[in-house]
Amino acid sequence: MLKWIILGGGIHGSTIASHLIKKKKVTPDQIRIIDPNAEPLAEWKKRTGFIDMPYLRSPGVHHLDTDPFSLKAYGKKHGTETDFYGIYSRPSLYLFNEHCDQLFSETTLKECWYQGTAEKVIRKNHAWLVTLKDQATFESENLVIATGPNRKLHVPDWGQTAKEMAPAQVSHVFEAAPPNKGPFVVIGGGISAAHLVIRLSKEFPGQVTQITRHPYRVHAFDSDPGWLGPKYMDGFKKLNDYRLRRDTITEARHRGSIPSDLQNRLHWLQKEQAYQLVIDETEAFTYEQGTFTLQQKSGKQIEANTIYFATGFSRELMDTPWLRDLVQDQKLKCAHCGFPVVKEDLSWCDHLYVSGPLAELELGPSSRNIIGAMKAAERITAI
Ligand SMILES: Cc1cc2nc3c(=O)[nH]c(=O)nc-3n(C[C@H](O)[C@H](O)[C@H](O)COP(=O)(O)OP(=O)(O)OC[C@H]3O[C@@H](n4cnc5c(N)ncnc54)[C@H](O)[C@@H]3O)c2cc1C
Repeated sequence: MLKWIILGGGIHGSTIASHLIKKKKVTPDQIRIIDPNAEPLAEWKKRTGFIDMPYLRSPGVHHLDTDPFSLKAYGKKHGTETDFYGIYSRPSLYLFNEHCDQLFSETTLKECWYQGTAEKVIRKNHAWLVTLKDQATFESENLVIATGPNRKLHVPDWGQTAKEMAPAQVSHVFEAAPPNKGPFVVIGGGISAAHLVIRLSKEFPGQVTQITRHPYRVHAFDSDPGWLGPKYMDGFKKLNDYRLRRDTITEARHRGSIPSDLQNRLHWLQKEQAYQLVIDETEAFTYEQGTFTLQQKSGKQIEANTIYFATGFSRELMDTPWLRDLVQDQKLKCAHCGFPVVKEDLSWCDHLYVSGPLAELELGPSSRNIIGAMKAAERITAI
C-alpha cells in the first residue's frame, strides 16, 4: 500500500508532493501523483503559454519549493537581469517554469507520476481506494485532492451555442487552438483576456476587439497582500459562520482585474489602433457564411471570425460525480456554498486532505494561488 496519493499534478498537487519528498516524509516509491496529463503542470503551462504571459503576477517568493528564497537564488545563478520585474520581483514565466522543472528533477517527481483520471474514491480497510478511468486501482494511507478547478470552464449560454455551431472558431482561452483567422473577438476583462489581446494585437494588428462588461479594474494582485498573513487572516479565522467566510472571500478577490503594467501596454496598443476595447455585453449573435455578428446590449454589432472566451472557471466545481459520491459516502462536512469545511491541517476527515479551491474556506482568498499551494503544503506536511 502507498503512503500518499495526490489527485492532480498541477501547481498544488506538485507542490505538496515535492514538499513531502523534500522533507523526507515519504520516499518516491511510497507516493503517486495521478493526473490525466503526461507531465506535471501541464494545465498551467498550456494556459499561460497560450496567452503568452511574460511575467507572473505574483512575487518571486511565491513558487513550489520549500525555501521562500529558492527561486530568487535560482534566478541569480541561472537567470538574466530581465527575469524579475518591478518592485515585487515578479518572475518571468520562463524562469518560474525552469525552476519548477529543476525541483521536479531534484525530487524525482516524475517517478511518482501516473497518467490517469480518478473516477471513484472509497474508504476500504482503513485505506483510500482510488479507481481510475482505465480501471487501474491504487490504495493509500493518505489522500490529497488537488484537482484544481476540475477542468470546468465557464462560457456564457450564447457562447455554448456558438461553440456547438462552429467549434473550430469558438473556444475558451484555456482549451484554445492557435489563432488562425481574424477578425478576433476576446470576451472578458481580466488578466487572461489582457494577455491574449496583447498577443493577438501584436500578431494581427487592427483585427482584434475586446468585449468586457466593465472598464479595466487595476490591482497589483488577485487580492490584497494583507490576506497572506495575520493582518486579515486573523479576523477570517475567527469567523465561525462559513457564509461570512464565503462572502469575505468573494469581496476580497479582485476578480477580473489586471496589474497596472498590463493596463499601460493595453493603453498604447489601443492608441496605435492595434485593437479596440468595447465595454458592453453580447446578448445575441448570428452566424452566416463563416462569420459571426455579435449583437451588443447597446445596439452595436461586432463581426468576428474567431471568438475566445477568457471568462474563467465555472463555479460549479463541487458538482463532480466522484467528489459528490465521496462526500455522501464519508458524510464529509460542506458549507452552504458546497465547499469543504476542513480542519486547520486541511484535513476533511482522517487521512483525507484538500488544496486549492477546496481549501479556501480555511486558507482564505489566496488559497487557489501559488502561495495557497505553499501554505497547503506546509500544513499538510507538518503532520
Ligand atoms: C493564466 C493564469 C495565470 C496565473 N498567474 C498566477 C500568478 O502569477 N500567481 C499566482 O499565484 N497564481 C496565478 N494563477 C492562479 C493559480 O496559480 C493557478 O490557477 C494554479 O495553476 C492552480 O493550480 P491547481 O493545481 O489548483 O490546478 P490545475 O493547474 O488545474 O491542476 C489540477 C490538475 O488536476 C487534474 N485533475 C482534474 N481532475 C482530475 C481527476 N479526476 N483525476 C486526476 N487528476 C485530475 C487536472 O487535469 C490538472 O492537471 C494564474 C492562473 C492562470 C490561469
